[in-house]
Amino acid sequence: MNDDFKGRVALVTGGGSGIGRAACLAFAQRGAAVAVVDRHAQAAAATCELIAAAGGQALAITADIADEDAVSRMVAECIARFGKLDCAFNNAGIGGAEIESAGRKLGDIDKSAWDKMIAINLTGVWLCMKAELAAMQAHGGAIVNTASIAGVIGLSRSGPYTASKHGVVGLTKVAALEYSEAGIRVNAICPGYVATPLTQASLAARGDKILARLPIGRFAEANEIAELAVWLCSDSASYVTGSAYDIDGGYVARI
Ligand code: NAD
Repeated sequence: MNDDFKGRVALVTGGGSGIGRAACLAFAQRGAAVAVVDRHAQAAAATCELIAAAGGQALAITADIADEDAVSRMVAECIARFGKLDCAFNNAGIGGAEIESAGRKLGDIDKSAWDKMIAINLTGVWLCMKAELAAMQAHGGAIVNTASIAGVIGLSRSGPYTASKHGVVGLTKVAALEYSEAGIRVNAICPGYVATPLTQASLAARGDKILARLPIGRFAEANEIAELAVWLCSDSASYVTGSAYDIDGGYVARI
């Protein structure tokens, strides 16, 4: 364990699984106290147990990021326990498999499916930033939002997901412009394909085709994505703000 983040407090949404869990562990390993947020209480608690077993400090918070009151409570609980908020990784999100119109063209998507995707993947990130920026105003901080390669290129038959992730990149840039003066850096990461519960169905259906187009020849491990988010929150990234980083094994470079 090193101490890059000793004395700092990090909050991670979607911390109960995949990239978010890997980020919680990585922050804790570097000495941060971690607020592990997830809509599933047991998943957040399980991540906290892993952190505690490794000698770290964590708090499980159950919240739906699409619910403004829950998001306010999330930040309040973090501050009540740890005294402040230094770093936030707004990573919770859903994939096409969770909305009933997954795999359809734009003209065939139900509005309810569209609304659900945007409420979580885009409005949810904005609500989290709104609460976090307020908490960081007095002393500065760093925020990282999880976008996707779908925030950079169009993914056919993933219209709502692509729109939500392009929106996350735009929100990230605006937040960086508006809050640099307050000493708050805001960046986005744009992962390619990572084998997590979110991609289970799509990788099972067309993983071979995706692999054939991936220059690096394999899917990412969740911790490889988490490392970039943690670095962007660290003092090593002190001059980085308003950027969206591809971390995709070269997928977008080929296009
Ligand atoms: P995952 O399904 O393993 O983890 C996502 C976590 O977010 C889950 O624990 C889930 O309960 C939580 N969550 C979902 N909606 C929530 C809500 N409304 N409120 C609170 N928590 C909620 O997925 P993952 O692959 O680790 O994805 C994390 C992020 O990375 C997502 O934003 C996703 O869009 C993005 N991403 C993933 C990939 C990939 O290939 N896996 C690629 C690019 C971007």
